[in-house]
Amino acid sequence: MAQQGKQFGPEYVRAISPYIAGKPISEVAREFGLDEAAIVKLASNENPLGMPESARAAMAAAVAELGRYPDANGFELKAALSARYDVPADWLTLGNGSNDILELAAHALVKPGESIIYAQYSFAVYALATQEVGARAIEVPARDYGHDLDAMAAAIAADTRLIFIANPNNPTGTFLPAADIEAFLAKVPSDVVVVLDEAYNEYLDPELQYESVNWVRKYPNLMVSRTFSKAYGLAGLRVGYAVAQPELTDLLNRIRQPFNVNSLAQAAAVAALADREFLSRSATLNREGKAQLVAAFQRLGLQYVPSYGNFVLVRVGDDNDAGARVNLALLKQGVIVRPVGNYGLPQWLRVTIGLPEENAAFIAALEKALG
Ligand SMILES: *Cc1c(COP(=O)(O)O)cnc(C)c1O
Repeated sequence: MAQQGKQFGPEYVRAISPYIAGKPISEVAREFGLDEAAIVKLASNENPLGMPESARAAMAAAVAELGRYPDANGFELKAALSARYDVPADWLTLGNGSNDILELAAHALVKPGESIIYAQYSFAVYALATQEVGARAIEVPARDYGHDLDAMAAAIAADTRLIFIANPNNPTGTFLPAADIEAFLAKVPSDVVVVLDEAYNEYLDPELQYESVNWVRKYPNLMVSRTFSKAYGLAGLRVGYAVAQPELTDLLNRIRQPFNVNSLAQAAAVAALADREFLSRSATLNREGKAQLVAAFQRLGLQYVPSYGNFVLVRVGDDNDAGARVNLALLKQGVIVRPVGNYGLPQWLRVTIGLPEENAAFIAALEKALG
């Protein structure tokens, strides 16, 4: 604490509440006197299959070169992404997780006092990135727990520089059909940048998939961000990327750390991108696990938000302590999920879809916790 009224840094930095991450297994084991091996973690939307074997092998081969700096331009990973999306390499930005991309966008595009738009109940990093740059947040009320795109378009102010949209959204799991996003993009002024955050895109059923890169070709003010942390199973390595036209890409490139994606992460991501089998196994497991959780919620009479991601938001009580109370009762049984009171959803918990036996352990613990 500063003693003499001397405080460091701008007020907008001091006002930030730090990001609350899912509790690590080791911490819960220590706190509750549990065996680590018996703990089930369904708190951070990680892939329950772990990382792909293909990525492990690629990293093993890359270890020999760790004495050197990574490729600052990510040549091989960009070449692979370039081929996948049929865009030139100068349309691609690599990030230390897609989190990095979201922050780079705010830092590159927004000055203190200008505004950034995002939806109520959308990903916590949008609010953080806004505060970090001293921007003004315009948080648009959600509709049925998802983005209200008409209200978001109407909220655009003269000083709005950036709009964050998550599709599917975290923590609610809601989804915006392609036609709605397309109509929204047509309404946004050309000097306002839209970041379309598609962290869970790979989990969408084939009939819902759309090719957002085609919108990037049409709109120079659109940036699509994706990640290797979720369906690709590489959360611990921190790799994400953005697709945008060269003018925007060039801006992000100027302010990113020169070596923001490490060598192992680059090698693993190249391998994972080519591993269609792992991706389809992840999506299938997720679909089945979602059905398992939803069936249990229905049986228990619990309200939930139909999810298009690898997690489900479920309402565990009517009072404003319900989320925290049920969360604690789950922790005592060695099940880690995510309370979402910090999102303004104190009656709800967000549960990542796990392996069938992990889902079953969660359901049994939940039944006990609800008495
Ligand atoms: C998990 C997540 C991300 C980013 O994760 P990274 O690990 O930083 O790539 C981005 N957006 C949303 C909506 C997420 O849920």
